[in-house]
Amino acid sequence: MEVVTRLHYSVVIIGSGFGGIGMGAALRRAGVDDFVILEGGPGLGGVWRDNTYPGCSCDVPAHLYSFSFAPYRSTRTRYPDQRHTLDYLRKVVAEQGLTARLRPHSAVTEAIYLEHAACWALVTANGTRLTADIVVFAVGQLHRPNVPVFPGHSEFAGASFHTAQWDHDVDLGGRDVAVVGTGSSAAQVLPMLRATARKVTVFQRSPQWILPKPGREFGVLARTALHLPGGHRAYRRLLSQAADSLLSPIMRGGWSARPARWLANAYLRRSVADPALRARLTPDYPIGAKRILFDSNFLRALSEPNVELVTAPIARLTRDGLETVDGTRHRAEVIVYATGFRASEFLAPIAVRGRGGRLLHDQWRSGASAFMGLAVPGFPNAFLIAGPNSFNPAGSNPSMKELQIDYIMKCLRWRDETDAAAIEVSADAMAAYELWMRAALCRTVWSSAGSSWYKHESGAVTNPWPASARTFARMLRHAPARSFTTIARAARDTTENIPA
Ligand code: NAP
Repeated sequence: MEVVTRLHYSVVIIGSGFGGIGMGAALRRAGVDDFVILEGGPGLGGVWRDNTYPGCSCDVPAHLYSFSFAPYRSTRTRYPDQRHTLDYLRKVVAEQGLTARLRPHSAVTEAIYLEHAACWALVTANGTRLTADIVVFAVGQLHRPNVPVFPGHSEFAGASFHTAQWDHDVDLGGRDVAVVGTGSSAAQVLPMLRATARKVTVFQRSPQWILPKPGREFGVLARTALHLPGGHRAYRRLLSQAADSLLSPIMRGGWSARPARWLANAYLRRSVADPALRARLTPDYPIGAKRILFDSNFLRALSEPNVELVTAPIARLTRDGLETVDGTRHRAEVIVYATGFRASEFLAPIAVRGRGGRLLHDQWRSGASAFMGLAVPGFPNAFLIAGPNSFNPAGSNPSMKELQIDYIMKCLRWRDETDAAAIEVSADAMAAYELWMRAALCRTVWSSAGSSWYKHESGAVTNPWPASARTFARMLRHAPARSFTTIARAARDTTENIPA
């Protein structure tokens, strides 16, 4: 492999979605300039760059789904679409002076902790080698498409692609299209597809709990309120409190689960007139056990004459479509895989080696875990944003990431103050946290659903945060000295022993 450069930075951030951008902005605010943001793709934006499928938008109001330091301030639009969210991120990057720090096409393949130098050696797919005192993995949870390979996969003669890898060259107008999956992505794409396709066949493995989503645009009253001084800030606070008080308890079968189920059932009855179709769309697991869909178009689209819902499992692909286990052949010229992401495979495909050459993925073989989703014992000076069990299924994930970033910044300051070469979360703190996490997960309904991206194949719930955002903030309020240990500074040489 050709060595392109050999460089050292104080901090290297991996990923340029909300997490990486937020981390970069925090470093700039703290006066740290010696950092880069390595991005595997062609540009910034993370999932908001990748997901360009028709109808893609956010199902969390943008006044909450935005950075606190760069508040979204539209008095018109509650739910911007993908393009606007990507534009928002581009604007933040420009305003925060991060453009020159971005290194696109720099997918990190190896991250190795060099004990003698107390720093990280990083290798990218394009041959760049660099070292960093601190590495921050901000690659998110929902970026590696899960594309099932059904028997007969290679026989299918038409086009097929995943929602996060949309092929805009394929014209779907007047064609027979199959959509596999009925999660948030399928719900957003179906109404757009069925408007132009001849027929759309939707393959559902399990039904979803769906709550109606408020309108994309604000009404007159809300617009007036947002024009008042402090209106935006008050709205953001209200949304955050509503998420914590109304939505979060649903995940634990708490007080709001019953009214939410009632609302979802009433919404299903209102949207789907056919009782047989309704029955097939009614979940048999507790509401909140998979991520709740917030959507106002999917159910109605399923009742349209050019849409068919198939609930028999897919047996195989044929030359001109899909065959289900009951022997029925469903014609399709194009297959859209709305089959989600390999969310529990954290940090794949980066080979991360910590102290003693320990491979992180060996440690995570039966499911990933990290202290507050941001640090792992044995991996000094390494942090994660949106790591294991830190996805908030009931609120805003940019806000969760900001809380992690604030804590990471506290850790970096503490490392400087103590003049330590490295800091590392202690095994005791991790053990106490895991005990808390196990008890908290037991109180959730997440184990009650069959499959979901919340879980590792071992059955361990590895992705969502099991309490409120308020609790997450409270648990990150402590000083790093309580949970981290220091590694003393020794003579260091960052130019040696970078893996060949
Ligand atoms: P998802 O929620 O994981 O849904 C995947 C769908 O594909 C499920 O219906 C699943 O069935 C089905 N599926 C997976 N493998 C299959 C197979 N081998 N055969 C048949 N069906 C299969 O994925 P997603 O819809 O892309 O959403 C993922 C997450 O991204 C969401 O939960 C949300 O957090 C985020 N998202 C957000 C928005 C937004 O508006 N902000 C939009 C899109 C996505 P089972 O349910 O039976 O597993």
